[in-house]
Amino acid sequence: MQRYSVIPGHHARELVLLKGGPCAWGRCAFCDYIRDNSTDELLCDRVNASVLARVTGQTGQLEVINSGSVFELTPGTMAALRRVVEQKQIKKLYFECHWSYRHRLQEVRDYFGVPIVFKCGIETFDDDFRNRVLKKGIVYDDLQEVRRYFDSVCLLVGIQGQTKEMLDRDVKILLEHFPLGCINVFCENSTDVRADAQLAQWFCQKYAHLQNDPRIDFLTDNTDFGVG
Ligand code: SF4
Repeated sequence: MQRYSVIPGHHARELVLLKGGPCAWGRCAFCDYIRDNSTDELLCDRVNASVLARVTGQTGQLEVINSGSVFELTPGTMAALRRVVEQKQIKKLYFECHWSYRHRLQEVRDYFGVPIVFKCGIETFDDDFRNRVLKKGIVYDDLQEVRRYFDSVCLLVGIQGQTKEMLDRDVKILLEHFPLGCINVFCENSTDVRADAQLAQWFCQKYAHLQNDPRIDFLTDNTDFGVG
């Protein structure tokens, strides 16, 4: 498994895929990458130490993903990560975090002492599709509530059951309300969720310009970040 890469572009950053404890939510219908989770803290720390040793600080920015949320990294890995931030002079961190941890984000800011971009896997702003079909467990009253906690949201596109109208609305909301975002074209995996290849093709053509939008990471394959 590839666990380190460097993402070029406007928000150039190193990226590490760390091994964390079980995703506290763990119920998203399309997700099978929680198989990388482990309750063996020593194993997690050992794997993560070798990954973190590759961080050079070359861009001053580091994104950390862990098939879950930052809160599921072990204490040992968090300490190792903080040492890397100090030693490699990392000026900005990116973490993924499930909605259920939204009230605890300040703990992470305080721990690292550098600006942090928290990314939330909203997947779609269609409440019914997000929660009934994708089983994300993300319920909010209005978009301002989401924006209050998260600078960046991730969209998942090209799933059977999604419509063009739904995806148009998702992109519109992302661009109008959030400074940063990530768009992932769904790739079939071991779950029962099926891709809609035609819809994905339509989306990639219509929104090809977003590949060059500095606000957006546009991933047409789930290994486009160079990890996984
Ligand atoms: S919150 Fe993320 S890691 Fe956890 S089940 Fe959902 S998609 Fe997978």
